[in-house]
Amino acid sequence: MSSKTEREPCKRCHGKGQIKMYQHVIGGVCFRCDGRGVEMTKAEIAARKARKEAEARRVILESVAAREAELAAAIAAPARPVRVQTPERAAIDARLRAHRVSLVGEEEVARREAELEARYEEDKAERIDRARRALELARERAAAL
Ligand SMILES: [Zn+2]
Repeated sequence: MSSKTEREPCKRCHGKGQIKMYQHVIGGVCFRCDGRGVEMTKAEIAARKARKEAEARRVILESVAAREAELAAAIAAPARPVRVQTPERAAIDARLRAHRVSLVGEEEVARREAELEARYEEDKAERIDRARRALELARERAAAL
């Protein structure tokens, strides 16, 4: 039997610090004793709890900052997908447009272009809305800290 000053071996890993059947999870380190193989004191358990809570708070606060950045990016992003324009591409685009005009007329081509533009704007508004909701959720979690 161990003396009073000696620590009891960990009740879960029986002093080994590892649990074989959990080897696939962080090398099977025992979560009860953090791999030390001995039972922790109340002060150590409290310190570990405080560390984990601080870490959880930090993660939540970081997630608020990340969601804020995502919302700002969604607002700043152009509605239309960015495409590198070269003189060659511009010439091809102009030829394709002229071809479409020859098929359906200038008015119809302009109407379709406006429709496409409106859809890009709608998609952008949806992306902003999603980012705003994600930020609200993150802020709610942060407020609950
Ligand atoms: Zn253990």
